[in-house]
Amino acid sequence: MKPETIAIHGGYEVDPTTKAVAVPIYQTVAYAFDSAEHAAALFNLEAEGFRYTRIQNPTTAVLERRVAALEGGLEAMCVSSGQAAVNYAVLNATELGCNIISVPQLYGTTHTLFAHILPGMGVTVRFAASDRADDIARLIDEKTRAVFCESVGNPAGNICDLEALAGVAHAHGIPLIVDNTVASPILLRPIEHGADIVVNSLTKFLGGHGTTLGGAIIDSGNFDWKRHAARFPAFSQPDHSYHGLVYTDHFGKGAYIARCRSVYLRTGGAVLAPLSAFLLLQGIETVALRVERHVANGRKVAEFLRGNPRVEWVKYAGFPESPYHALAQKYLRGSACSLLSVGIKGGYAAAVKFHDALKLVTRLVNLGDAKSLACHPASTTHRQMSAEEQRSAGVLPEMIRLSIGIEHIDDILEDLNQALKATA
Ligand SMILES: *Cc1c(COP(=O)(O)O)cnc(C)c1O
Repeated sequence: MKPETIAIHGGYEVDPTTKAVAVPIYQTVAYAFDSAEHAAALFNLEAEGFRYTRIQNPTTAVLERRVAALEGGLEAMCVSSGQAAVNYAVLNATELGCNIISVPQLYGTTHTLFAHILPGMGVTVRFAASDRADDIARLIDEKTRAVFCESVGNPAGNICDLEALAGVAHAHGIPLIVDNTVASPILLRPIEHGADIVVNSLTKFLGGHGTTLGGAIIDSGNFDWKRHAARFPAFSQPDHSYHGLVYTDHFGKGAYIARCRSVYLRTGGAVLAPLSAFLLLQGIETVALRVERHVANGRKVAEFLRGNPRVEWVKYAGFPESPYHALAQKYLRGSACSLLSVGIKGGYAAAVKFHDALKLVTRLVNLGDAKSLACHPASTTHRQMSAEEQRSAGVLPEMIRLSIGIEHIDDILEDLNQALKATA
């Protein structure tokens, strides 16, 4: 099925007992066992079924199947936020004393996780000088366990050459993990370009309405954890936290998600609430339509801003002069994201004036909402960073990041215009 159809039907068949057409909300913590033998089979992962909602829930399972299908993956696991998805996806591929290589252009909290939190847990993150494959390749050594990138960087707007990054990772026997939040699977399916693991913040375009936090980890099923057992012993050696289970033997291609669920979701506990899963499913039904309008409005805003004398620069991959234009053509179906950044003439002070003068466009830190949103990364999402770190993450003092919504374009442009006038 095509993404538009998967978004509406994927992962759910009319409930056989109630005939409910909409996905029911299974608002339950636990599930009754028929007998001790039945319970034992469930706990041994021999029988299919539910035990406890921290591990799996029928509403969330529909969301997992739908997101996996949208991304063209084998399986998915949902968690309570996009940040938990990034955290668990990396932890599941690493162990004490290892490293991962990351592109420098990252979501602010992911940068904090990589630069400050994971190292304290014994996993070093080496930041490449750029998102280019050769800059990644030169940092890989025998302790490297993954390459990490955002398919479209938030807020930098860079587009990674996923096929080149996958090529480098696979040449060294390690997986490529891609955060696909900004592009969304409607514009880009990283697995088709060699990504092994994809993470998404469902909070953004997929949920789409700025009401519900959620995250997903999607496994392509393509990375051979058994073949690379020397680097990834956790998948093919007995897990003593789960009475000696060997993930690659028991789950085959599903080993990565199975281990992520039985280790990180079960004991880490960042579970998605069933009601949140329902709300996210509701949002996903219209994601293809919304993204189409987001993209069309984004282009009109980029063109309007480029022609305005109070604007210093516009970073938008849809312009032929963008360094990412060719990659947008290749990876984003010839379009560009509705997330764009603009440099206001007059530096930090002018950017703040513009930001504060907006009336329709909401000032906040989020993206992918039906509403148009603006944020000033230097004073918010990337505030914890040094000026040097900000620059390498693609954050400049005069920069405003815009997430263009699906309102009528005339109203969006009118608001931007009056706010630009206020910077004079
Ligand atoms: C928002 C975001 C996240 C974190 O997602 P939450 O759902 O807010 O935890 C991770 N990566 C990117 C690229 C994001 O934009």
